Amino acid sequence: MSRLVVISNRVPVPDEKKGAPAGGLAVALRAALEERGGVWMGWSGKSSGEQDAGPLSMIEDGNITYALTDLTDRDVEEYYHGFANRVLWPICHYRLDLADYGRKEMSGYFRVNGFFAERLLPLLQPDDTIWVHDYHLIPMARELRERGVRNRIGFFLHIPLPPADVLFTMPVHEEIIKCLAHYDLVGFQTDHDLANFVGALEREGIGHSPAPGHLVSFERKFRGGAYPIGIETAAFAGFARRAASHAMVRKAEESLVSRPLIIGVDRLDYSKGLTQRIDAYERFLVDNPHHRGNVTYLQVTPKSRSEVPEYEAMQRTVAEQAGRVNGALGTVDWVPIRYINRSVARPLLAGLYRLARVGLVTPLRDGMNLVAKEYVAAQNPEDPGVLILSRFAGAAREMNGALLVNPYDMEGTANAIKRAIEMPLEERKARWQQMMDRLLVHDVSRWCDDFLSDLTEEENAAHAALAT
Ligand code: UDP
Repeated sequence: MSRLVVISNRVPVPDEKKGAPAGGLAVALRAALEERGGVWMGWSGKSSGEQDAGPLSMIEDGNITYALTDLTDRDVEEYYHGFANRVLWPICHYRLDLADYGRKEMSGYFRVNGFFAERLLPLLQPDDTIWVHDYHLIPMARELRERGVRNRIGFFLHIPLPPADVLFTMPVHEEIIKCLAHYDLVGFQTDHDLANFVGALEREGIGHSPAPGHLVSFERKFRGGAYPIGIETAAFAGFARRAASHAMVRKAEESLVSRPLIIGVDRLDYSKGLTQRIDAYERFLVDNPHHRGNVTYLQVTPKSRSEVPEYEAMQRTVAEQAGRVNGALGTVDWVPIRYINRSVARPLLAGLYRLARVGLVTPLRDGMNLVAKEYVAAQNPEDPGVLILSRFAGAAREMNGALLVNPYDMEGTANAIKRAIEMPLEERKARWQQMMDRLLVHDVSRWCDDFLSDLTEEENAAHAALAT
């Protein structure tokens, strides 16, 4: 088995969070790295100011080497805040109105990818399998190929890939597609994302798919597939069971005084549909006066990317909206919305999910949405809650026991909240079981194995071959 080299923007170094349990992706990739031995490289999250970054910082942990590089202020601004988070993120989440193109940021993005490739080069061995993660690093394979790397290189896009008409609004879309053609395998979250990619190749006349999963573009043959990411289902269900006795979870439970709980957990991001969700909840309360005073909605929303102006503005908007609803509908002994604007540790989160009768997951667009899967995994099989899920989350392709909603349809979402709160136990159990069965089989280790076995399949070795 060849060594594995993982490259991602940020690297979850084991003790970085002082013992906090890592997320599913980190657990699965670490397991794959431990099995094969290897390297995980990425940005340290630190800036070297105006000075060039110093040597890589290397952390050895068993047979995994973590290799971290700092970036200059300019790199962070242009590559990370600039092109990755002010162009690729909004475009891939269908927000053309929020994309902010600048030539400086675009060239910074390609420059920093070249810089990462340069730093990775001395760590590579000829037989390594290389796995690049997410939208920050799309040009990585091309940068490595230009430096003579012939290894197998796979790429996984964790966010959606929009259809051609949306993608093509990005001035460098052809360049981005060309970069993807330098991989041996390009993985997407859903079959829709893969179809959008093939559609973009065909629309622009720059490629096609001669057979399912096979792609040709810019005279390169490569593979594409849908690999919906999972969570560490069994472990998470265990967390949730144990969390029932967590002091904070018990306190939360007491404070509900038997009112059913609706939970929402999302980073503060315009893709998550927070304002539409609060509107729908308010509509549910207005339309159903008998539920007023008898239900509590907890929204956990850690801040993110506050350097990007839209995020800063959103923080105010959502807080004001929650305050307005509480002011309008709250009473002396009842607050309709509990809004928490900071991060909650995963073990506590698992316990809160389990307490909640309804998981409200209504992004306007989401690559997968792990919260939806975690909510299901955390439920008590004897008394499971109901998942309300946006049809525009990647998870909607798999979670067939959820109540699917269109988050732009406020009344439809309000009706789904009512239906979920009132759903009889037998229906809740049947819906939950359907989803849990799938989550147990398609967990994050399976995702990792499926991707890596397709990447290392013999026929993929033709990576450098020219299409005939
Ligand atoms: N999360 C957390 N604490 C919080 C909020 C979120 O640990 O206060 C975790 C959550 O458990 C999930 C991840 O952050 O594993 C969010 O992943 P998701 O795919 O839902 O959304 P993303 O933030 O990646 O867009």
